[in-house]
Amino acid sequence: MKKIFTIVGARPQFIKASAVSSVFSDDNLPVEEKIIHTGQHFDHNMSNVFFDELGIPEPAFNLGIGGGTHGKNTGRMLENIENLLIDGKPDAVIVYGDTDSTLAGALAASKLHIPVAHIEAGLRSFNKKMPEEINRILTDNVSSLLFTPSDEATNNLYNEGFNQSMIYQSGDVMLDASMTFKAISKKPEDIEFHEGYILATIHRAENVDNKEVLNEIFKALDQISAHTNVIMPIHPRTKKALEDYGIKYNKIKLINPVSYLEMVWLLENCQLVITDSGGVQKEAYFFGKFCITTRNETEWVELVKIGANVLVGSNTQMIVEAYKNAPLDMLSDEIYGDGNASHKIVRNLLEFLD
Ligand code: UDP
Repeated sequence: MKKIFTIVGARPQFIKASAVSSVFSDDNLPVEEKIIHTGQHFDHNMSNVFFDELGIPEPAFNLGIGGGTHGKNTGRMLENIENLLIDGKPDAVIVYGDTDSTLAGALAASKLHIPVAHIEAGLRSFNKKMPEEINRILTDNVSSLLFTPSDEATNNLYNEGFNQSMIYQSGDVMLDASMTFKAISKKPEDIEFHEGYILATIHRAENVDNKEVLNEIFKALDQISAHTNVIMPIHPRTKKALEDYGIKYNKIKLINPVSYLEMVWLLENCQLVITDSGGVQKEAYFFGKFCITTRNETEWVELVKIGANVLVGSNTQMIVEAYKNAPLDMLSDEIYGDGNASHKIVRNLLEFLD
């Protein structure tokens, strides 16, 4: 029996972990998985709803660490995770994506010589001002197994000189999750229209932590909502910023963060997506929707290359123009694998541990 500790803390990690955890439990593998939840996201609709709805095992430990600065959070997580790893002695640790929880888990484990499997390895935005970019680079550098979602991610690791034997191009676990949960998606209760709307999400620090930038984006969304309904499940950080800055908007429909099954419904039925989220850019593609990305760079560059995504930064005019010029037909291709990433990851991890 292998003992695996999975470290999660933020919404996108719950969704990714649901895909891999279900392989551990459904396939009756000789694995005991324990989830450590750092507490980075803690509201009911940013955390519990995903555990309830997606069948993720209850966290064995909840550290309750959130709300501080990056340094403070990472430091506290590091100390707490180290203690749990010393006591629990897992054979391996799994970390996902690019948050402070990812970095803290990877650092704590690697210094105790516990192999780290990084799922969603190799992504680069090449913008080190993004905290996520620092977390990605450092996590890849202390991991033993690097599971990449795409050719681009794999090539980034080759270019940085990583040993080929550590890299496994598994495909994207978020594609697995989207395909699984599509069958049981559900319409959010407070939505009165069924189609022909734009789905928007905004939460990145570079857009939310600056009044002018956030105002530009909301001005664009307001102009667009004069033509097409705009629905935005609002991230708590964005909600607070709108209130603090006193930003006004007229027709944009803000709703509370939705569950994943509701998000999948919104993605399936929308006309197009406007977002600064990493995960939502890809999901737009999985569901055949064009994506307007309110950032200057993306770690999902293949989407821009094939014309499924356009980067517009935060300029009102650029966002509105992109909406007017959005293509109606979308290509689809297997750039993120075949929806079986989580099975491949589990198989490779267990072979590595054998
Ligand atoms: N998501 C969700 N409910 C929401 C907004 C997003 O379930 O109200 C999902 C979304 O579909 C994606 C993930 O959360 O799978 C993305 O998380 P987020 O945008 O917070 O983070 P990022 O991907 O940018 O790291």
